[in-house]
Amino acid sequence: MSGYNPYDNVLKTIDKAASILGYAPSDYETLKHPERELRVSVPVRMDDGSLQVFEGYRVQHSTLRGPAKGGIRFHHEVNDDEVRALSAWMTFKCAVVGVPYGGGKGGVVVDPSKLSVNEKRQLTRRYTAMIAPIIGPETDIPAPDVGTNAEVMGWIMDTYSMLKGHTVTGVVTGKPITLGGAKGRREATGRGIMITAVNAVKALGKDMNGMTVAIQGMGNVGSVSAALLTEQGAKVVAVSDVSCAIYNEDGLNIPEIIAYLNEGKNLLEGYQGNYKKISNEDLLTLDVDILVPAALENQINASNADKVRAKIIVEGANGPTTVEADEILDKNGVVVLPDILANAGGVVVSYFEWVQNLQSLYWDESQVNDKLKSIMDAAFESVWNIAKEKNVNLRSGAYLIAMQRLIEAVNLRGIWP
Ligand code: NAD
Repeated sequence: MSGYNPYDNVLKTIDKAASILGYAPSDYETLKHPERELRVSVPVRMDDGSLQVFEGYRVQHSTLRGPAKGGIRFHHEVNDDEVRALSAWMTFKCAVVGVPYGGGKGGVVVDPSKLSVNEKRQLTRRYTAMIAPIIGPETDIPAPDVGTNAEVMGWIMDTYSMLKGHTVTGVVTGKPITLGGAKGRREATGRGIMITAVNAVKALGKDMNGMTVAIQGMGNVGSVSAALLTEQGAKVVAVSDVSCAIYNEDGLNIPEIIAYLNEGKNLLEGYQGNYKKISNEDLLTLDVDILVPAALENQINASNADKVRAKIIVEGANGPTTVEADEILDKNGVVVLPDILANAGGVVVSYFEWVQNLQSLYWDESQVNDKLKSIMDAAFESVWNIAKEKNVNLRSGAYLIAMQRLIEAVNLRGIWP
């Protein structure tokens, strides 16, 4: 949608939460301004010998509650306002689940599917070198996001370590397990989605068994959510990715689809199975119990929110719903589990990874999953309760919890000097 600015979305959401809590503008003015922003040029010698210069960013929205924390996105539509918004959402997310971090985010304007492995590695290494002055285990800790994965995190860790002259595992999370990655980190965001969905269904007095689910985006977050919701007895009837959307009212064969995606080109297009093709727009308005948008921002907006028929939306993506859409969904009685709660599983297990790196003491997967569940359960309960108490939707509830914690930190620290 033209004119959409994700950072405006953030500012409106903050203002709304602050007015519910009765904060004066000066109480939270600092939260409306990212603390530090870096724009970098990243030259890469391509395989054919040509030189390309890519544009990259790293934004630290807040370090109020601890080091900045947040992913790195490789996508051709990355821009400064998007990275700014994503970094702010991280600040609020970390506050909602109570992990001791602020918020940061990075991105490079590139379509990674057009790069060879060698070009992607060169890009990652040079980008890391360019942002190295502001990242580090005590200052700002990147992680995977759209278009990046454990392999890319391994290259970031190696590059930063080479620049420092010694191995620094804690500079980045979501690494391969051999390089200090946490067991369960790859699945953590999807697992958090599943835990949040189960909690919401229970709180609404319903049963997950047989619930129908549509998932937009079969990447890391969407595919793990699909697998784990299926394990909980839900029926995933539709999934999509950038190539197409597929639907079967009796339920799709999720294990088979994931196995297909894990080999080959990683795209749904070409998967042979029992389904009919639908458009991505149709997927968002299917008559299902649960919709999980797990692709990009601005998917549910003023133009389609009224057509959404799902009863529950669990936001796997960051910022999939605009402020205008939120109001429409609210009016229509759709229960929205907001991104800063629902997809926080990733940053929670990133926190566990960082703690393990700092201590050089590693946990088994059940320990990771158990601790993740207890943090997600507690965050859900606090958001659910405050939303009820203040008679607001769950997004406002989540922002109320986060704002209270952040403003308390502002007040306790004071403004330096
Ligand atoms: P990914 O790159 O692994 O997957 C993204 C998926 O979305 C791909 O399947 C892609 O084909 C699909 N997609 C892109 N555009 C689409 C469109 N228009 N319609 C349908 N599908 C489309 O990325 P990811 O890590 O799974 O991240 C997905 C979302 O979740 C992002 O908003 C990200 O910020 C958020 N998120 C990720 C994590 C994490 O740990 N990876 C944590 C929290 C939030």
